Amino acid sequence: MAAGEPQPQVIETVAAMCAEVRRLQRSGQRVGVVPTMGALHDGHLSLVQLAKRSCEKVVATIFVNPTQFAPHEDFSKYPRTLERDLELLRGVGCDYVFVPSRDEVYPPGFSTEVDPPAVARRWEGECRPGHFRGVATVVLKLLNMTPADLAVFGQKDYQQAAVIQQMVRDLNVETEIQLGPIIRDPDGLAMSSRNRYLSPAERQRALSLSQSLNAAQQSIAAGEARAATIAAMIGETLQPQVDVIDYVAIADAVTLEPVETITANTVLLLAVKIGNTRLIDNCVVSPGKFAP
Ligand code: AMP
Repeated sequence: MAAGEPQPQVIETVAAMCAEVRRLQRSGQRVGVVPTMGALHDGHLSLVQLAKRSCEKVVATIFVNPTQFAPHEDFSKYPRTLERDLELLRGVGCDYVFVPSRDEVYPPGFSTEVDPPAVARRWEGECRPGHFRGVATVVLKLLNMTPADLAVFGQKDYQQAAVIQQMVRDLNVETEIQLGPIIRDPDGLAMSSRNRYLSPAERQRALSLSQSLNAAQQSIAAGEARAATIAAMIGETLQPQVDVIDYVAIADAVTLEPVETITANTVLLLAVKIGNTRLIDNCVVSPGKFAP
């Protein structure tokens, strides 16, 4: 940890956050924002570092957004580790942390929501009804409350990133959107705040997600282009290890509509449950595999 870094400035109100971003911009500084739900790990920190490459000042936001959780999901037990988060953000030189209360984001009388774009319809949209309505609404609000020049999101939540990019285009939001690659533990497990729910045995079984994606990439590289064959292969790897397969999607990387034939513009998306923990992972088919 970089002991020399100053503590990030913690801001709790919308008025103070918005005014500070405007003040920085008036003084000629480019501002980046990284929206998170906290319980930070190296995946989140990599997004702060990405923002710092092109911005003079970076804001991380920490808000566990109740409207993107269904009643049976893990909102109340979602990990909240603010002190540690602040230390981690200090270590990567994050300048501000916006930590609004629930009432600050959704004051009494709040009743406007974003109807998410078509790319929200399948996969997560089907498994988690209402999820992307909650995500689109809170992200639009965060981009208004923290009107940064750049917002950075992770490819870990591939469909979420697609929803946000389309929403920003459709609604003429001026903030530039940048995506950061998935950060993984050395054994391949994609980092996630939810990984801490896994018992050691469950964590071992969770390696089947990245393993099935890697094996699929290898088959594709070796010439297999039939989506059904690749989906079956992934399913066979996952099936003995996980408790529920929510979906194995082989889809167009932009529209997320299913495809029959894999090309350089295809994404593989997985969602499973192991015990009580829901995990997602994905990979874009490497374009190199299709080079002539
Ligand atoms: P969350 O706190 O889960 O809402 O995630 C906040 C942001 O961090 C989102 O843009 C995620 O896509 C991103 N993120 C989460 N996990 C990772 C990871 N392993 N690698 C890169 N980005 C990630």
